[in-house]
Amino acid sequence: MMRQYELVERVKSYDPGADEDALNRAYVFSMKAHGTQKRESGDPYFSHPVEVAGILSDKKLDCDSIITGLLHDTVEDTLATMEDIQGLFGDDVARLVDGVTKLSQIETLSDRAKQAENFRKLLLAMSQDIRVLLVKQADRLHNMRTLQFVRNEKKRSRIALETMDIYAPLAERIGIRDWKDELEDRAFMELNPDARDSIERRLTFLRESGGDIVGRVTSELTQTLAKNGVEADVFGREKSPYSIWRKMQRKNIGFEQLSDIMAFRVIVERVEDCYQALGAIHGHYRVVPGRFKDYVSIPKPNDYRSLHTSVYGPENQRIEIQIRTEEMHQVAELGVAAHWQFKQNRTTDGRQYRWLRELLEILDHAEAPEEFLEHTKLEMFSDQVFCFSPKGDLMELPRGATPVDFAYAVHTEVGDRCVSAKINGHAVPLRTELKNGDQVEIQTSKVQTPSPMWDGFVVTGKARACIRRFVRSQTREQYIRLGREIVEKAFRREGRKVVTRTLKSVLVSFSCRTLDDLFAMVGQGQLTGQEVFDVTYPSAKRGRKRPATSNGNGKAAPEEFAVPIRGLIPGMAVHLAACCHPLPGEQIVGIVSTGKGLTVHTKDCETLENFVEMPEQWVGVQWDDSAEGTANHVGRLIVILANRPGSLAALTSVIGRNNGNISNLKINDRAEEFFEMQIDIEVSDVKHLTNIIAELRADPAVGSVERARG
Ligand code: MN
Repeated sequence: MMRQYELVERVKSYDPGADEDALNRAYVFSMKAHGTQKRESGDPYFSHPVEVAGILSDKKLDCDSIITGLLHDTVEDTLATMEDIQGLFGDDVARLVDGVTKLSQIETLSDRAKQAENFRKLLLAMSQDIRVLLVKQADRLHNMRTLQFVRNEKKRSRIALETMDIYAPLAERIGIRDWKDELEDRAFMELNPDARDSIERRLTFLRESGGDIVGRVTSELTQTLAKNGVEADVFGREKSPYSIWRKMQRKNIGFEQLSDIMAFRVIVERVEDCYQALGAIHGHYRVVPGRFKDYVSIPKPNDYRSLHTSVYGPENQRIEIQIRTEEMHQVAELGVAAHWQFKQNRTTDGRQYRWLRELLEILDHAEAPEEFLEHTKLEMFSDQVFCFSPKGDLMELPRGATPVDFAYAVHTEVGDRCVSAKINGHAVPLRTELKNGDQVEIQTSKVQTPSPMWDGFVVTGKARACIRRFVRSQTREQYIRLGREIVEKAFRREGRKVVTRTLKSVLVSFSCRTLDDLFAMVGQGQLTGQEVFDVTYPSAKRGRKRPATSNGNGKAAPEEFAVPIRGLIPGMAVHLAACCHPLPGEQIVGIVSTGKGLTVHTKDCETLENFVEMPEQWVGVQWDDSAEGTANHVGRLIVILANRPGSLAALTSVIGRNNGNISNLKINDRAEEFFEMQIDIEVSDVKHLTNIIAELRADPAVGSVERARG
């Protein structure tokens, strides 16, 4: 185990300004916190955080990261609290330790391998600070180095699988190649020891029979390049057993056919030299077809750049060659870190570790240079959000997604039937925006149907398409229903009943195929009930002096002719006017307009004046008393309120006491003495709203209350 002074010295060697005192305190704090805890290997538990800190110091990470490495398990596994850490080591370290702790907690939530890609993204999205992720990776690396001491075999293979699926690819994505290789190789060792052994044996055999092939090929490649005027450093290596294994699987070939087990790297100075080196190699050796890749002109998403090719090399062995510049090489080896480090080295400031701090500073500021963001993979998933189902399934959704989007992502049926949602155990409105790591539980009901209102807040294409499809199909149903009511009322007004057979005989006059088509036309306002009557009974029309639209001048139809808005879902065939916000219990009237269906206004709404000249559009309507009070209606008030402390609280408490829910509040005008505001309140009916108005008027803080009109 690394001693305290060794660690401190190591950090000071690359960061002379490191906070020595804080490092010492963190070392001692962690040692005391973990006390006599032991790892399965029998080592004191404390050896683990020290090794993690050591791994981080190999990457020359800043002092806060090293301290976080020392403290990373204290909150989770010991009596130490976040407050302790904050008090002793400050906000930054506390935030980092908290981040690592959260990642570890998430880890235990889901172990479904099929969701590995989502899980990787979740980890990335949750590690707002790249250092959190680096500490987590170092933690995993040390746990893999000591995996053999874990006694439970199932647990060992779960950890190995998780490393293969999640942590190795993540290490690759943030560009730390040696961590990725080691994580993979150690997981491979656990998951498939036989395969790894046989590959190792074969490699040993090749090494012994062929001598130093890598060395010979390296020097010959160097000479070939030099003869062609390319100055380059050539490095050769054997591929890792795991990458050989993967190739065998991918290409479905046996080991004896596997010849390209060596890889060579050609490092040149300038980008042009890459292509020149490639030309020299292709000119000299037989090319293996289909293996050339140009990641210099088209870099990989993690900013990896190189030319790749395979040739039959000097000893007629297939070899892989990567050609790159020194800068490309640094990026390939060190990822995000390198890009910055490389630039730093070129400037006057030689302190290499600084790349990280500056990276973070840039990430902290919204105005990050475009070019830089391209290289920071942390921002990659900022437009997504990851949530869990109660079973631990992980869902990937676009940012801004709501429980309704989540429900549709689970299954169309779940979406269509969702009535309410819980996030992390708490009931929330369906329009609530989901956050990373939220656990979402959807309650469904067989009688629920998608609401047109949902269309206003869902963000996923699937949810939107399902809701719209439903609304479209339902809207026709609703138009038919409304149209049938209108026709029946018109007939009754003329003293007739609708006789299906008679009505069917006139369908052709309206170019309709079915009665439903006819009713839908009426419901949509393309045809009035009176017109249908007049065509059905032409003689009755001739005998009449003037049109029988009784409510032509704003007078409501007598009760028995009024259309009940029963079973009609607001938002489809029927709309409640936004000018007057009619409420159940109020006198109302409907205006049918072409293609829009029925708009319901209060009878005293000023908007109605616009329709005085169009009597054929008026339809008598009435609230359906039998309707359950499930749907909330919005009443809009204009309130003048005294501009003094406590008056807003008085207002909201009156509304709350009366079970009204404020859905919107807007201040229209603010003067020294008073301000005027507009309040939308969800109420069950007009009586409910009237009670609220009356009580508001009684409050001394309230100057006046009126319903908003027009
Ligand atoms: Mn740990």
